[in-house]
Amino acid sequence: MPVGTQATVKALTPEDLREMGAEIILSNTYHLYLRPGHERIQRLGGLHRFMHWDYPLLTDSGGFQVFSLNALVKLSAEGVQFQSHIDGSRHGITPEKAVEIQEALGADIIMCLDDCTPYPASHGRAERSLELTLNWSRRCRDSRRRQDQALFGIVQGGMYPDLRKRSVEALGEMGFEGYAIGGLSVGESKELMFEVVSQTAPLLPSDRPRYLMGVGTPFDIAQAVLQGVDMFDCVLPTRNARNGTLFTRNGRLVIKNARHADEESPLEPGCSCYTCRNFSRAYLRHLYLAEEILAMRLNTIHNLHFYLDFMGEIRQAIAEGRLKEWAKSCYALGNGEEEEGAPPSDPWGSPSRKRMTGKKNRDSTGTVSMK
Ligand SMILES: [Zn+2]
Repeated sequence: MPVGTQATVKALTPEDLREMGAEIILSNTYHLYLRPGHERIQRLGGLHRFMHWDYPLLTDSGGFQVFSLNALVKLSAEGVQFQSHIDGSRHGITPEKAVEIQEALGADIIMCLDDCTPYPASHGRAERSLELTLNWSRRCRDSRRRQDQALFGIVQGGMYPDLRKRSVEALGEMGFEGYAIGGLSVGESKELMFEVVSQTAPLLPSDRPRYLMGVGTPFDIAQAVLQGVDMFDCVLPTRNARNGTLFTRNGRLVIKNARHADEESPLEPGCSCYTCRNFSRAYLRHLYLAEEILAMRLNTIHNLHFYLDFMGEIRQAIAEGRLKEWAKSCYALGNGEEEEGAPPSDPWGSPSRKRMTGKKNRDSTGTVSMK
C-alpha cells in the first residue's frame, strides 16, 4: 500500500497510481482528524470521494501517530490524550472514538486502536501494554456501527513469543476480518524483527489477511511474505523518492551523485515506468539539484512503480509455486554500490530506519521509535 498521509500520495494523482498498478492505498486518520476533520470529510461525501480514489482504502487508527508526533501524551485505560502538533489544541482518542472517526472517513479497511509497545520493554511492561491493546481491541469491535468496512485487530506483545501468541489467540477469539502485526520496526534489529514475524505470522488464521505494519525495504517484504504475510505499507518508496534515493534492481541509487551528471541512461534500463521511458539520470539529477517540483514527481513515479512491480512478481511467484526460488534470486541481486555500510544481505539497505530512530516522523505509519 502506497502511503497517502494527508489523503494524497505526495506528488501523484490517483490516475498516476492506477497507471502504475496501485490497488489500495493507506491514509492516516490522525492527520485527517486534525485537519481538515473527519466530520467535514464525511459531509463532503467520505474519503474516497474527497480524494478522488474509487479503489480500496485503508486508514490506521491514529494511535501510532499520536505517540510518534506528540511529546505530551497521556495514556490511560480509557484512551490517549494529546495535544495537536499543529496548533497545540487538546484532544482525546478512545477506542470508540477511533472507530467513529474511521467510520466517518469511510475507508474499506479500518484498524483497531492499539498501544504500540516501545522497544526495549521489559516483559512486565510489554504484558501491561498488551492487556491494554486487547481491551481496546474488544471495545473497537463492540463499538462499530458500519458493517461494510473490514476491521483489523493488531497483534502486540513486544519481542516476547509468549505474549505474541497470547495476543494472536485473544484477537482470534474476538474475531476480526484481518490481523496486523504491530509493534515492529520500532528500533529493534532486523534480525529480531524477523524472529518475531516468523514466530507470529504462522499463528494467525490462514483465511484472513495478515498485515505487517510499516515494513519495509523490498528485501524485508520478500522475507515477510515467505513467513506468510500478505499486506504491507511503507513510506520508503515515496519518502526516499523525495530525498533523491531511488530503488533499482541493483540496490539503491542516489541521484545527486556526480557520476550521474552526464548519464544518458534511465534510472533503471528496462523499467517501463513513465520516468524511465522518458528521462535520463542526468536530467533527473539536474531537476533534483535545482529543487524542481518535477523531481519529486518523477522520482516518486519510479519508486512506487518499482515496489508495485516487485509485489506483482511476488504474487506471480506464489501463483506458480516458486516463491522460495524467486526470493533466492531476489536476494542474490547486487549490493547498491552507492550506499556505504549497507548490510550486504539487503541490497536496498535501510538507512531510513537508522535515520528515523528517535526522531519525530511526520509522514509515516512506520519506522519510528516511540515514547
Ligand atoms: Zn522506472
